Amino acid sequence: MCADVVTRFAPSPTGFLHIGGARTALFNWLYARGRGGKFLLRIEDTDRARSTPEATQAILDGMAWLGLDHDGDVISQHDMAPRHIEVAHALLEKGAAFKCFATQEEIEAFREAARAEGRSTLYRSPWRDADASSHPDAPFVIRIKAPDAGKTVIRDTVQGDVTIDNAQLDDMILLRSDGSPVYMLAVVVDDHDMGVTHVIRGDDHLNNAARQMMIYHGMGWDVPVWSHIPLIHGDDGKKLSKRHGALGAQEYQVMGYPAAGMRNYLARLGWSHGDDEFFSDAQALEWFDIDGIRKSPAQFDFKKLENICGQHIAAANDAALRHELAAYLEAAGKPALSDAQLNGLEKAMYCLKERAKTLPELIEKGHFVVASRPIEADEKAAKHLDTVSRGILSELTPHLQDVSWERETLEEVLNGFAAAKDTKFGKLAGPLRAALAGRAATPSVFDMMLVLGREETIARLTDAAA
Ligand code: GLU
Repeated sequence: MCADVVTRFAPSPTGFLHIGGARTALFNWLYARGRGGKFLLRIEDTDRARSTPEATQAILDGMAWLGLDHDGDVISQHDMAPRHIEVAHALLEKGAAFKCFATQEEIEAFREAARAEGRSTLYRSPWRDADASSHPDAPFVIRIKAPDAGKTVIRDTVQGDVTIDNAQLDDMILLRSDGSPVYMLAVVVDDHDMGVTHVIRGDDHLNNAARQMMIYHGMGWDVPVWSHIPLIHGDDGKKLSKRHGALGAQEYQVMGYPAAGMRNYLARLGWSHGDDEFFSDAQALEWFDIDGIRKSPAQFDFKKLENICGQHIAAANDAALRHELAAYLEAAGKPALSDAQLNGLEKAMYCLKERAKTLPELIEKGHFVVASRPIEADEKAAKHLDTVSRGILSELTPHLQDVSWERETLEEVLNGFAAAKDTKFGKLAGPLRAALAGRAATPSVFDMMLVLGREETIARLTDAAA
């Protein structure tokens, strides 16, 4: 246990919770929860033009579906602006930042000259070392004073030590001329103030880390443990696109993937524990560590996702599945099932959950429980209900009247009946499936008979025979 671990997920609310974001959230959640630490949520809504309350809600909903609960209140980065401004002024006091009065034209001229001379166009302001007495009464921005020479080393637990030449750093703006703080400052101040000890995030933020380090150093703050994880690619190794599965987390909910399977699959995207593919939350919490994060990009693979989800459905508790089915229907905007239908599905779950990869597949397998008489046969099933088959069903029905309603007896009766007809049970199965479920693919005939009970079974066979 390491109860002082604090991680955070810091999404920008500019769209839904995409699959890469969900994985980042999961890794931070696993790391903190597995160590008895805290997992915090900060909405990075400093970009007022691009942030929307709908996107924030979509992120919260996606996390709730995935079961990624956070500690404390959701923090709005925008609300912390006064504190960001305070830190910019503190940096100014310490001499780690300075007021820059350069105009837009002057900065452009600097860049043009740099380009012409083949120098770096990263801005270094002539105001870096100016004496306050020389400051004009004019608008200014506050900039960090980038280190003159040397190198910055980012100690990253995934990427190793990443060394950046300080010549690649600019006198980055901290406060704009309207006094508003920039995002790069906000991230550092918030992480520090929230007591974040470990930052796990996409490696598209690695370059930011070097710039953020200037602020940590300027304030004399401890740098958190950084883990920049490789992004997710499609199964062809290319950048993840919609076609590859770059959808919102909730689209997976609507497609009917169970949350536990999704968590398991997302954990495996870029992290591994030996050869383990299928594991429980408890195992993931016990096993998850930065050591297991791979340096190469993970590839999104729908087949694997389905396979893992299927195993989670098979392993799930029946009552839990019942609730998950109801929640799925609501999320997918499908008609709700009645309590009686859900009760039936729960009772039948033992024979449904073995081979369903998604929740809609589970419902389709349970169609025989959900449907009510008269059972309508779909096109495939209807082929099994010709005149001969209907005659057979009507002959069979009396044999079921008085037998004990147990698997063994039912097997004996049906096999005996088939033998008497000089055929195999397999030949009876099609008509029985059609009569009992109206489908050609169903759980076993015996399971359906046991779940439906004698009265309903006989009624359905009689309906079909008529
Ligand atoms: N808001 C950033 C993003 O959504 C994350 C910043 C961070 O984790 O430091 O990509």
